[in-house]
Amino acid sequence: MKFLVVLLGLVLGSSFAGYAVPRVQVQLSVEPATRAFTCQYTFVLPAGDTSSVLRLNLRKDFRVQRGQLGGAAVQVRHVYYPYFTDTVQQVVVRYPAGRPRARSFTLVYEGILQKERTTAQVLEFSGHTIWLPFRPLEEYELVDYTLDVRVPPGYQVRSTRPPLGAKPGRFRFEGQASAIELTAIIAPQFYQAVANRGPAIAVVKAGAPLGFKEAAILPKAQDIIAFYNRTIGRQDSITRFTVLLTGTKQDAFGLLDNATVITYTTDFDIAQREDLLILAHEISHKWWGYGSVHDESEWLNEAFATYSSMLYLQARGDTAGYRQNYEKLAKTTVNTPAITGFDRTKYESGMFRRVVYNKGMVVLAALHARVGTEQLYTILARTAAQRVGTTTAFLGVVGQVAGPETRAWLLARLSE
Ligand SMILES: [Zn+2]
Repeated sequence: MKFLVVLLGLVLGSSFAGYAVPRVQVQLSVEPATRAFTCQYTFVLPAGDTSSVLRLNLRKDFRVQRGQLGGAAVQVRHVYYPYFTDTVQQVVVRYPAGRPRARSFTLVYEGILQKERTTAQVLEFSGHTIWLPFRPLEEYELVDYTLDVRVPPGYQVRSTRPPLGAKPGRFRFEGQASAIELTAIIAPQFYQAVANRGPAIAVVKAGAPLGFKEAAILPKAQDIIAFYNRTIGRQDSITRFTVLLTGTKQDAFGLLDNATVITYTTDFDIAQREDLLILAHEISHKWWGYGSVHDESEWLNEAFATYSSMLYLQARGDTAGYRQNYEKLAKTTVNTPAITGFDRTKYESGMFRRVVYNKGMVVLAALHARVGTEQLYTILARTAAQRVGTTTAFLGVVGQVAGPETRAWLLARLSE
């Protein structure tokens, strides 16, 4: 599917957690033999949000059974959603004017999990499955959630964090995540390698024991997280982290909720520099996920994750690897539009990566050369802790740490 290509390797958010966020209650019931599922989804706007209209987008192949809301008008229509280059079903709920009570809406729908997100043993309900509704342009807004999953006897469920309660066939998870990133991996059995010191890091594999290459992911994840906790994450460090291995052979993506999903398990070889860079990139998305995916501020997600992974290589003494990766990406940035004001819809699809990932990385490397390593870490740690989501806010951090001249210099680099 095309939008999955667009989404490949990214994870993002567009809200700041400092204020009240919507609350979401999800009850997911799955029949693994047929990949069929039913989902009851309740969306509750924060208290005090008296919006008169609520819109929720849902994949077009899901069948809406019903929506429940006393007195409000509910309409379902098909609209084109450019980000997916496809249509979606849009549920429009209009609330009666002048009623101060909480805005909530419950939607029940059923669908078939797409085959490419399954194996003979595993079903992957993840941020790349797009199995949940979301507000238009807000798929990465933060929500507080409870997720209840029902599966037949003999199946287990894992998520980005441990279950709160698990009875046979029933699993409950709770936390905060991007709206489309609630995760339920389902399999008859899970196998894991767990860190015995430092942050609670686990590599969890669905359906089959960890192979030799997969077991090697744990010590590398520990080393990457230790490096980040001393540098970019020193104001907001990682205390727990889960690497989920699904075997569905599609992609890799980091999640705001201290987790990453790596689906091409058996081919993934952490001894290879390219795969080490992927792991370091995805882990760093724990911090780099607050720029909007719909405008230029996505460079705050992808260029920052790309450069973070290169900082890890450099800190581990692989300066040749850093250099090689830099040259490989930098040469794609010749004659590309500026990051400031970049609009992906105006260019062929390849331009997105050249500008948002690669050119952004070149700008960060130039900032690194200008201010030095220690000051760069201070800038990145503050940017991460403040969950900066716009280029303007990032320029503000740079101005505070490195002064107005460096801020002006950076603005010029982003505009060329
Ligand atoms: Zn990324």
